[in-house]
Amino acid sequence: MSILKVIFYTTGLSPNRKVAEIIWGTDKTNRTWEYIYFIKNLEKVNFNVKDFNEFFGYSSNFTPQGFSNIEDKRFKLRLQQYQSIDEMIHTLDNSFFVGNDNEEEESFHSSLQTKDLSTVIVVEALEPKNKPLLKMINGRYQWTRDKDLAKKALKRAKFQCEIDNQHISFISKASGVSYMEAHHLVPLKRQNEIENCLDVLSNIVSLCPNCHRKIHHAEDKEKKQLLQNLFKQRKEDLFKQGVNITFDYLINSYGIK
Ligand SMILES: [Zn+2]
Ligand SMILES: [Zn+2]
Repeated sequence: MSILKVIFYTTGLSPNRKVAEIIWGTDKTNRTWEYIYFIKNLEKVNFNVKDFNEFFGYSSNFTPQGFSNIEDKRFKLRLQQYQSIDEMIHTLDNSFFVGNDNEEEESFHSSLQTKDLSTVIVVEALEPKNKPLLKMINGRYQWTRDKDLAKKALKRAKFQCEIDNQHISFISKASGVSYMEAHHLVPLKRQNEIENCLDVLSNIVSLCPNCHRKIHHAEDKEKKQLLQNLFKQRKEDLFKQGVNITFDYLINSYGIK
């Protein structure tokens, strides 16, 4: 998909009928197309639709068509995080775009299920941390995640689901404790916009497998409810760790308006 960065120059405050007639003529009813824009400094940027949808918080099956604007609310919400439109486009550009955190990766969740899981010690103070390392994986940059920290987050939640501690999971064979998954509330793919580290205790929630699937795959309304619940619980902790986001920002990162 291509996005054109366009700067519009109108021909003046009033439409220019004479120029339009020379260029296009008139239709049967003597009308012409007199609102004329001149486009200057045209620049083509390439990135795929999936990245575009994730970035602007459109649902994954949204297909931008023809010549259209990015919805005002979505555009402004993202622009707030950048110094300029150029900087935002640069981030979206393939060469720099920070790819998915592949949070769904089965291997990551399995790697947390170790014998020592129940004895992990949580002493971390809730204070801002520097951004994690940016690693080039398959030609795209990705933020690294700390497995030990994810284990601590599960332990901190007493291996219970943070949506509802009554949610039943099962005992993990590898760890001997209730199986829970570590989910980054503010997705790591948004790290480039947040000054402090997102891979911190306050941003990792322990979820039962069902709630974890839900938060990624449920309908917007249901996702929003879960996010509301978690945001309420974590807002202050996130603030302590320098992650100052609004609820609007959070739901936008899940593709919800
Ligand atoms: Zn997740
Ligand atoms: Zn749950």
